Amino acid sequence: MKIGVLALQGAFIEHINILKNLDVEAIEIRKKEELDNIDGLIIPGGESTAIGKLLVDLDIKDSLIKKIKNGLPIFGTCAGLILLAKKIINDDKTHLGVMDITVKRNAYGRQLGSFYTEQDVKYIGEKIKMTFIRAPYIENVENNVEILAIVDNHIVAAQQDNILVTSFHPELTDDTRVHKYFIEIVKNYKK
Ligand code: GLN
Repeated sequence: MKIGVLALQGAFIEHINILKNLDVEAIEIRKKEELDNIDGLIIPGGESTAIGKLLVDLDIKDSLIKKIKNGLPIFGTCAGLILLAKKIINDDKTHLGVMDITVKRNAYGRQLGSFYTEQDVKYIGEKIKMTFIRAPYIENVENNVEILAIVDNHIVAAQQDNILVTSFHPELTDDTRVHKYFIEIVKNYKK
């Protein structure tokens, strides 16, 4: 099994390290051809505007949308979640637009935007460690999106078929349970 991590900008090294520690082959993705060689993809946190622009400039965007629609397992954290959303309340631009969620960027305010908490996540476990950094939250879900976690009345984790998103950064903690759950999604997709 090979899992790619989109490595255009942001916190991709941390995801690569977690995957390696879990004995999964992890590949940094910077070109569209590299998407053909993977069984799943992580879109990391960072700056969604910058990553979104690079996806267009490097001609990765359309191939990636096609692959996601064909079932490629995707895990988006923070900016990754924003890139996957169909609607962004406080941004006039969407990016990949493949998940039926409405998100709010920098939803916790710029000053108080970073915090740590522990909360249960459906299917994944109890008291999952969650680091939020200028995080978005999900304001609204549609169709078959399943809500997996809520913190302070806001949705912070969700799944729609092959797409898993968290508004927090599990890769910045020593808690690998969200990655293990994603690896299971990838295994099931391979079957
Ligand atoms: N604030 C960033 C954005 O809007 C996301 C922050 C993050 O990924 N840690 O893209």
